Amino acid sequence: MKTRKDYDIIIIGSGAGGGTVAKELSSMCADGLRIAVLEQGPRLREDEYTGRESEMAQKLYVDNGGMMTSDGTMTLAMGRLLGGSTVVYTGTSILLPEHVAERWAVPGLDWADLVGRSKKYMGENNVHLQEPEKINDNNRLFHEGCQELGYACEQFPINVKGCKGSGLCNLGCPNAAKQGTLRVQLPAAAANGVELITNCRVERIDGKTLHARIENRDFGEPSAWAPGDYTITAKAIVVSSGSVGSPALLFRSGFGDRLPMLGRYFTAHPALILVGQHAGPITNYQGHPKSYFCDEYMESERYLLETCMYFPFVTAKSLSGFGPEHSALMADMRRLQMILVLAMDPAEKDNRIEVDNDGNPVVHYAFHDTTINALVHSQRTSTRIFFAAGAERVHAPSADRFFIEAHEANRIDDIITRDNFKLGKISIASAHLMGGCRMGGDTAKSVTDAWGRVHGEPGLYVADASLFPQCSEVNPYLTIMGLADRVAQQVREDYAELAAVANTAQESAA
Ligand SMILES: Cc1cc2nc3c(=O)[nH]c(=O)nc-3n(C[C@H](O)[C@H](O)[C@H](O)COP(=O)(O)OP(=O)(O)OC[C@H]3O[C@@H](n4cnc5c(N)ncnc54)[C@H](O)[C@@H]3O)c2cc1C
Ligand code: SF4
Repeated sequence: MKTRKDYDIIIIGSGAGGGTVAKELSSMCADGLRIAVLEQGPRLREDEYTGRESEMAQKLYVDNGGMMTSDGTMTLAMGRLLGGSTVVYTGTSILLPEHVAERWAVPGLDWADLVGRSKKYMGENNVHLQEPEKINDNNRLFHEGCQELGYACEQFPINVKGCKGSGLCNLGCPNAAKQGTLRVQLPAAAANGVELITNCRVERIDGKTLHARIENRDFGEPSAWAPGDYTITAKAIVVSSGSVGSPALLFRSGFGDRLPMLGRYFTAHPALILVGQHAGPITNYQGHPKSYFCDEYMESERYLLETCMYFPFVTAKSLSGFGPEHSALMADMRRLQMILVLAMDPAEKDNRIEVDNDGNPVVHYAFHDTTINALVHSQRTSTRIFFAAGAERVHAPSADRFFIEAHEANRIDDIITRDNFKLGKISIASAHLMGGCRMGGDTAKSVTDAWGRVHGEPGLYVADASLFPQCSEVNPYLTIMGLADRVAQQVREDYAELAAVANTAQESAA
C-alpha cells in the first residue's frame, strides 16, 4: 500500500543543484505553494561527523566512495546525504572561464549571465581567499615549487566560515565551517517553508507522479516521513540527482527511448594523487587542504594541478605497488607533500551512464588518448614541482620504479613514460562527475535546453552537473549553482501555466 502526497514542486536531490533550486523557489511557499526536496541520503547528526576515514566514507559517500566505472579503471566519488556532494567537497570556488562556455556553445546560454549568477553564490556561501598565515607547508611548498619553475600558480578562493584547519573537508566538516548547501541554501529554503524529506529514494517518475521509498538507516536522523512506499504528485519536477543519479532516474522512468542523448557525454576530470617525500615533517594535515592551483598546462596539455591532502586509506590505495617501499612511504605521512592532477577529458558520446536490470547506474568510461597523455605529462610536471620544493623522493604511478630520487631529477621524462601507464593498475579517481543530461538545442543532440527544460516534457527540469555538455575544465560547483539558479527562474516563469494545465486535467478527471 502506497501513501499518497500532493505537492506543487518537487526537487529530487539536495546537492549543489537541488539545494540551490530549493532556496531560489522557496519564496513561492509564501503564496501557498507546497515544495519539497526528496533526498535519498540521511541528514547526519552533528556528533556523527567524527572525521574517522572509513566510518565517514560509509556514511557520506555512495558505495563508501568506491563506486567504479564498468571496467574498473576509475572510482567515482559522490555524496549521498542531505547537502549531496557539497558536504564532502573541499569548497574551492572557481568561476567558469569564458572560453569553456564558448566551447560548450549551448544556444541560449550566455557566459556573462551564468557567471553573474555564480558570483551571487560566491557572496551567499562566503567565498574568499584564506589569510596567508593560515596556509600550511604542503600548500606553501607547491607555490614555491611552481614559482621556482616559472609555472603559473594562483590561490584558490574557498567557501569556509570559522574554519579550524582540521583538514577533514572530504570527510564532511566536523566544525560546520564549510559553506555548502547543507549549511546555507537548505536551511534558508526550510525557513521559508520547503520540506526536506531525507532517506527518500525516488525510484521512478511517471508523468507528474513520482514513486519513492523511505528507508531509514542505522545512522543519521530518521526521515520526516514514515518508512514505506509513496506516490507523490507535483506540477513541476526538478531532477537534481547528480551526473550519475539524474540520468539513472530518467532511464528508470522510461525516457531512454525519447531522449537518445540521455546518459551520454559523461566527463569526469580523471584525477591522480601524487606524493613527494621530504626529509622531515611538514605541516600537511593541519590547515585547509587546498590553497593553490597551477594551470600552466591547462590549454596545451589539458590538465590542472591542485594542492590536496588525503587521508591514510585513500593515499595508500593511490600508490602503485606494494611491499616495503609502500610501507616506508606510508609509515611517516608527516613528511608527505601531495598534488592532485585533474585531466580535462573530452566529451565522448560513448562515455555514458546506463542502468542495469535492477535500475542501478552503470558508468561506461573509456580513456581518450589525450586524457592518458595529460595524466602522464602531469606526473612529470608534478615531479618537477616536488623536487623544486625540496622533496627528497617522489612516487609517480607511471614511473618505472617506486621512488624517483632527487638525483634522478634530470631523467624524469625517461623514468615516467606512457608505456608505464597501465590502466587498471593505476589508481584513477573522479570527484567531478559531469554530463549525462547535456544542455543543447534539440533532442538529437541534447537532453535539455539552456534553461534545464527536458525536451518535449513540460514541467520536467534538470538542475545539476549532468547539464554540462562538456567538462567545466575547472572545479565545477559554482557553475552548477549558476545553472541551477537559471533553472529555478525558468520554473517560476513556467509555473502559472503548469498549474493551469494540472488543474484542467484534475477537473476533467473528476
Ligand atoms: C570529494 C569531493 C571533493 C570536491 N571538491 C570540490 C571543490 O573543491 N570545488 C568544486 O567546485 N567542486 C568540488 N567537488 C564537486 C562538487 O561537489 C560536485 O560537482 C557538486 O556537488 C555536484 O552537484 P550536483 O547537484 O550535480 O550533485 P550532488 O551534489 O552530488 O547532489 C546530488 C544529490 O542527489 C541525491 N540523489 C541521487 N539520486 C537520488 C534519487 N533517486 N532520489 C533522491 N535523491 C537522489 C544524492 O544523494 C545527492 O545528495 C567535489 C566533489 C567531491 C566528491
Ligand atoms: S579544514 Fe576547515 S572547512 Fe575543512 S573540515 Fe576543517 S574546519 Fe572544516
